[in-house]
Amino acid sequence: MTDHYAVLGNPVAHSMSPAIHAFFAANLGDDISYDRLLVEEGNFDATASGFLANGRGCNVTVPCKGDAFRFADTLSEYAKTALAVNTLKKLDDGRIYGDNTDGRGFVADLKFKGVSLNGARVLILGAGGAARGILKPVLDEKPGEVVIANRTLSKAQELQKLFGSVVKAQSTETVRDGFDLVINATSASLSGSLPAIDPGVLSRSRRACDLMYSQNGETIFTEFARKQGCPEVFDGFGMLIMQAALSYELWRGIMPDFEVALKHFRKNS
Ligand code: NDP
Repeated sequence: MTDHYAVLGNPVAHSMSPAIHAFFAANLGDDISYDRLLVEEGNFDATASGFLANGRGCNVTVPCKGDAFRFADTLSEYAKTALAVNTLKKLDDGRIYGDNTDGRGFVADLKFKGVSLNGARVLILGAGGAARGILKPVLDEKPGEVVIANRTLSKAQELQKLFGSVVKAQSTETVRDGFDLVINATSASLSGSLPAIDPGVLSRSRRACDLMYSQNGETIFTEFARKQGCPEVFDGFGMLIMQAALSYELWRGIMPDFEVALKHFRKNS
């Protein structure tokens, strides 16, 4: 019998999730369908309830991750700290479980790349949903220090209050040091702009990444970091594939082969 899944959001036409999950299922020999469901404003609960009457789970994308957080009957710790849900699963008793696999996907991709956060000094640019979503998984790896620099300082300060002593808020313009890893978790790349970070920070840092991804692996931020001489630079494509793999594992109890999928989609997307 076919198991039904979907991605809910607006827009969803561009979403790679149907192709990624179809690839996982084909490789594992699973019989699934995976649809795109466009959510009209104010219509998340009706769309999700309608789908989950027969569906086993769904992914949730922009701008519905907060709606999904409120919709779920029970939440993972990751969803609770992110205040956002990207994966819903119908439990055996009919209740809906909400999880957030974005941050774990990010950290799993780092591990795949051989990057350890243990004791590392990390700079996160941005204090929006993505920054909040990666913070718990990043802190679980026991970094030495996490600086959060945001255009609006008060939002970084809120995260500092919430996540405790390892996390320090700073306004972007005042950051001068080099870091083991600089993470661009702002949405600036989406509009072709850069956060107002001193270029010397990238010259002095060992690695830099953008959570945004592109077909060729370059974004305005990865190009900027490379130009400043940062030795290792990557985009958020691995995170995208890995968060999907973690959703699949949550739904079906089996982890798809991340590496095979990553190679396939880097070549064919
Ligand atoms: P939000 O809208 O929640 O937050 C946006 C953040 O970016 C805020 O901190 C905002 O600062 C900052 N910002 C926006 N424009 C600029 C600018 N021009 N200069 C400096 N700062 C800016 O977005 P998300 O957190 O949801 O998304 C952030 C990024 O993460 C996006 O690029 C998204 O594509 C990516 N992402 C990637 C995923 C993946 O699987 N690879 C998964 C999830 C997200 P302020 O507070 O001052 O407004």
